[in-house]
Amino acid sequence: MEKHKRRLSLSAWIFIGMIAGILTGLAFLPAPEFVTTWIMPLGTIYINLLKFLVVPVVLFSIIDGVISLQDLKRVGNVGVRTFIYYLFTTALAVAIGLMTVNLFRGMFSPLPSAELAGLEYVAAEAPGIMDVIIDIFPDNLFAPMVSADMLPVIVIAILFGAGILAAGERGQRIGTLVSEMNAVVMQIMMMIIRITPIGVFCLMANVVAVNGASVVGTLALVIGIAYLAYFIHLAVVYGLSVRLLSGMNPIAFAKGIYPAFICAFTTTSSNATLPVNMECCNRMGAEPEISSFVLPLGATINMDGTAIYQGVATVFIAACYGISLSASDMLTVVLTATLASVGTAGVSGAGLVMLAMVLTSIGIPVEGIAIIAGVDKLFDMGRTALNITGDATCTLWVSKLERMRKAKAASK
Ligand code: ASP
Repeated sequence: MEKHKRRLSLSAWIFIGMIAGILTGLAFLPAPEFVTTWIMPLGTIYINLLKFLVVPVVLFSIIDGVISLQDLKRVGNVGVRTFIYYLFTTALAVAIGLMTVNLFRGMFSPLPSAELAGLEYVAAEAPGIMDVIIDIFPDNLFAPMVSADMLPVIVIAILFGAGILAAGERGQRIGTLVSEMNAVVMQIMMMIIRITPIGVFCLMANVVAVNGASVVGTLALVIGIAYLAYFIHLAVVYGLSVRLLSGMNPIAFAKGIYPAFICAFTTTSSNATLPVNMECCNRMGAEPEISSFVLPLGATINMDGTAIYQGVATVFIAACYGISLSASDMLTVVLTATLASVGTAGVSGAGLVMLAMVLTSIGIPVEGIAIIAGVDKLFDMGRTALNITGDATCTLWVSKLERMRKAKAASK
């Protein structure tokens, strides 16, 4: 009999971890310090392990991905498609965020000036648009890896991959070495993924215990609006993309992406979720050479959830100051939020920092960020889950295009 007992899947364990975390958080609402002191550290260890793996995963998987695309023209084709898909869906995301929040605008009222005056959010300096672009290109091989600055790491990986391809036979041994390193890193990744349910439990317990009481009134409303917009984007844009572009059943996609979705929801880091997302996409039939190129790129530049959040937060903060936004302000928000989300690092809370860039672009006081900073985690959970789902939809689409290309080439 024993033998027939089915073992629970990892997804089931992740779900159990999340529910247990919520219940534990609720139980400790009166004494959140217990959770922060004794439970959260385990969650931090889990996040640390994921973070430690990010640079090797991105570096080796992108170099390996570039090499396995075999010729530079193909790298260019896949890169351009991915980039266009990412930018287009992100712009759609800000638009959906703005439309949704504008439906509810009437429900926001200017906050009492005393409250506003007391606000103090010392904005971590948000970089200007040109700086964001310049910083993509590394001036040092190691510095970006040490500080886990992912855009330059991606550039380094693409250049090395291209270099290995261009070197032809002489680059072959290095190419094999990179593939072998990639296999080793993937194994380490599988080990860490196995402890995801424990990590999810600890992180969830902490969020609920710490934020439970403060999620009230207006903040609950604006969080609800952001989640509504996240949901619309998920159902409409990703639903259509999966169905029409990838030819996949959206329900099957939902089931396949679920472990990565929960991992993103609880770790609030696209980077940290990257290993889990790769595993999910490959299981759903993505081509491994595509997922190892498209996903790390997406974890770094494709942030639809962040873009929605920035649109919603901007209109909300403006309303708190009694400022109403014109159509041209909205357009500026679409542009800057798209760029800001590209420049947002795939780490917890980064979107809040980049919000400063959007606010500044239309002259809203940056201190307004303080109004929502306290509950940023709750926005971040949903936006990160959306961010990584977008990366997965792109991977499936580009994979399908690659399969079609291969089939066409084979039939010639
Ligand atoms: N936490 C998000 C992510 O990693 C970025 C953000 O803060 O918006 O995708």
